[in-house]
Amino acid sequence: MMKQSRPVLSVNATAANQRFSRLLAESEQGQDIVITRRGRPVARLQSIHAEAEPAPPLGTPVAGGVPDFEKRMDIIEACRKMNAIGLNQGTSGNASVRVEGGMLITPSGMDYDTMVPADIVKIGISGRLLHGHRRPSSEWHFHCRVMEARPRAGAILHTHSINATALACLGRGIPSFHYMVAVAGGRDIRCAPYATFGTEELAGAVLEALDGRLACLMANHGMLVLGRDIEDAFKRAVEVETLAAQYLKALAVGEPNLLSDAEMDVVLEKFRTYSGWAEPAR
Ligand SMILES: [Zn+2]
Repeated sequence: MMKQSRPVLSVNATAANQRFSRLLAESEQGQDIVITRRGRPVARLQSIHAEAEPAPPLGTPVAGGVPDFEKRMDIIEACRKMNAIGLNQGTSGNASVRVEGGMLITPSGMDYDTMVPADIVKIGISGRLLHGHRRPSSEWHFHCRVMEARPRAGAILHTHSINATALACLGRGIPSFHYMVAVAGGRDIRCAPYATFGTEELAGAVLEALDGRLACLMANHGMLVLGRDIEDAFKRAVEVETLAAQYLKALAVGEPNLLSDAEMDVVLEKFRTYSGWAEPAR
C-alpha cells in the first residue's frame, strides 16, 4: 500500500517574505521568533534586527515586505555560490544589480550565509542610500561609477579569487593566450593600476580598465566582471578565474603563444553572433 505523502504548504517567495516580515515586525526589535508545535520548538526565525549595526537611521526602514525581493535573493544566491565554488573567500567580494531608480548592493562585511533579502541595500547611482538598515559595501564607489558609465550592465560582481588576484598582484592582465579571453568582450583583459580600496581613485582606474570590456583585474586586489544580470556576471567571473589559472600555469613553464588581433576579432564576432556570450553589456 502506498504510504500517504505528508501535506505540503506551498508559499511563493514574495508571499513568504511578506508573512515573515509581518511576524518580525510584530516582534520587538532584536527578538528572534521561535515557532512551536505542541509546546516544542520546530523553527526559529532570526530577527533581521538582531545583528544590525547599532546606528541604523540610515534610510527607510524595512516594513511590509522587501521591494525587489527576487533580485535580492538572486544576489545572495550568487554570493553564496561564489564562496561555495572557491571563487571568493569570506566576506571580501561584493555584488550589485541594477533596479528601477538605482541599484541593489551587498552590505558591508556581512557573512553571505546569514544574509537575508532585507540586508541588501538600495542606493542611487550617485551612492545615496535609498533603502536598507545596513551600510552598503565599502566598494560602492566603483559599483556606482561603472553602473553610471555602462548603462547596459545589469550586474557587477567583484571577487578576490585566487588566480585572478595572483596575476593582479604581478600587475599583469590576461592577454590573448586563449580564445576564451573574448568572454570579457575584447582582445585582452586589462589590469587596473593599484589604488586604495573603497576610493574614487580606484573607481576611476577600474572604469578605465573596463573601457570596451566586461571584466578587468585590479592590481594587488582582485577582479571585477559585468553582466546582463547577476547570473551572466557569475558565469563570466568563473571564466575569468579559469583563464587566470590557465595563464598562470602556462607562465610557470614559459611565455605562452598569443593569438593575433585578427584571430581574436574573428572569435569576438563569433561570440557576438553564435554563442551564449552574445550581446554583452557594453
Ligand atoms: Zn575587493
